[in-house]
Amino acid sequence: MEKTLIKNGRVLDLKNGNHTLQKRDILIEGKHIRDMKPHIQDQDVTNVIDAEDKIVMPGFVDTHRHVWESILRHIGTDWTLVTYLESLYYNNLGAQLTPEDSYIANLWGALEALDAGVTTLLDYSMLETPEHADACIKGLQDAHVRGVFAHGPSGDGKYWSRDSELRHPEDSRRVKAAYFQSDDQLLTMALGIRGPEFSAWETAVDDIQLARELDCIAAMHIGFGTWGPHDHSIQRLYDANLLGPDLNLVHVNTVQDHEYKLIAETGASVSVTPEVEMMMGHGYPITGKVHKHDGLVTLGVDVVVSTAGDMFSQMKFALQAERAIQNQQILESGEMPQELQITTDDMLQFAIPNGAKALGLDHKIGTLEVGKEADIIFVDPGASNLYPLNDQPVGAIVQSARPENVDSVFVAGKAVKRNGKLLVDNLEEIKEKVRASSEAVFERQERKVAQG
Ligand SMILES: [Zn+2]
Repeated sequence: MEKTLIKNGRVLDLKNGNHTLQKRDILIEGKHIRDMKPHIQDQDVTNVIDAEDKIVMPGFVDTHRHVWESILRHIGTDWTLVTYLESLYYNNLGAQLTPEDSYIANLWGALEALDAGVTTLLDYSMLETPEHADACIKGLQDAHVRGVFAHGPSGDGKYWSRDSELRHPEDSRRVKAAYFQSDDQLLTMALGIRGPEFSAWETAVDDIQLARELDCIAAMHIGFGTWGPHDHSIQRLYDANLLGPDLNLVHVNTVQDHEYKLIAETGASVSVTPEVEMMMGHGYPITGKVHKHDGLVTLGVDVVVSTAGDMFSQMKFALQAERAIQNQQILESGEMPQELQITTDDMLQFAIPNGAKALGLDHKIGTLEVGKEADIIFVDPGASNLYPLNDQPVGAIVQSARPENVDSVFVAGKAVKRNGKLLVDNLEEIKEKVRASSEAVFERQERKVAQG
C-alpha cells in the first residue's frame, strides 16, 4: 500500500477541541493516518511531502450545498428566496439540465469545493430522472471529493407544494442498492427530503421513515421565512417522536425559542447557511440560539448561484452575524459589550468536527488522528493576508484566510491540490464543457419561454 509522509507541518488537529499548532509529521498509509508525531522514520515511504511552515489541518465539511447549481453561477446574486424557488425550481431552469449537464455541473461544483479546502460536502440534489441521479453521483466520484449524496426529488412544483402527497421517489431504493451498499467509500447517501413545510405532513413522515429504512440521514429545509413561526414543525416532529441525530435541519431561522432546545436535546443537526439566509429572506442565522443549548451547529454554503463555494466566507458571516445581534442587545440595554460570546474557535468547530458528526462521518474525518482517514489541507501562513501568525492560527483561518491560501488538499490520502493548483489534467476541457452546458441550459429555457 502506498505510504506518504508529510514532514514538518504545523499541525492543527482539532482533536478534543485542540486549537494550538504542534510540529508533527504525518504518516499516511493508503487512505488512513497511521502515525502522527515529530520525526517519523519510515524506510518504505513512497512519497515525502514537505509541509515546513504550513498549517496542516482537517479539510472543511460543508453540510448543505446544491452542487448542480455550479453551471448557473451568479444568476441569483440579487434574488430573494421566492425568486430563487420560482426561477430554478417549479419546473423552470433546473429542469433544463440533461444528465450530461448534471454530470459536468456536479464535477465542476465539487472541484470548486476542493480548491477551497472543502473536502466533504452534502450535495442536496434535484433529480428529474434516474439518469440524472447516476450522472450527479459520477460527477462527485470523478472529482474525488468526499460527499454525502442527498438524493432529492424533481424540482417540479407538484413535488414542492405545501400539500404534496407525492412520496419521495422510489428510485432512491435503486440508488442505494446500486451505489451505497458499503460505507467504506468516499460517497455515502442521504435523502434530501422536502420535509413538512414543502410537502404534506403525512408525506414528510413517510419520507423520514423511508430514510431510516435505507439507513440514510434525512436532510430537509425547515423552519424559516413565514413558515417557521406558523407551522411549528420542530414541535410537531418532536411530538411525533421523529426528531433525532439522523435528521439534518437546514436553516431553522424563525421557529419558537423552545424549539431550539428540542433540536439540541434530540441531537438533530442544524445547517446554518448564514450568507444566503441573510440575503434571501430566510431569517436571521440562528447559530447562537442552537449553540447556547449545546446543539450541533454546522455550516453550509447552500446556493452557489448566489454566492461562492468556500467555507471561509461562511465562517465570517456566521460569526459576525451572531456577534452583531448579541452586541446590539447589550447596546440597547445601555451598556458597552465587554466580551464576545462566540469565538473563532467555536466557528472552526462548527465548520469541521461538527459537520463531520452531523453527516455521520466523525469516525472517519473531522479531526487529524491516527486511525482516521487522511482528509488534510495545508494553509500557507506566509501569504500577505496571514503573515505574521502571532500564534493565532484559528483566528487567522476564520477571520483572514481565503481559498487561495489553501496550498494543498488531500482526500482519503490522495492529493487533489498541490502548491496552489488543482491536480486535474484536463481542467481546460472541463471548463469548455461547463461553458457549453451552461449556454445550452439557458437556450433551452429561452425556447421554452418563447413557446409559452
Ligand atoms: Zn438548500
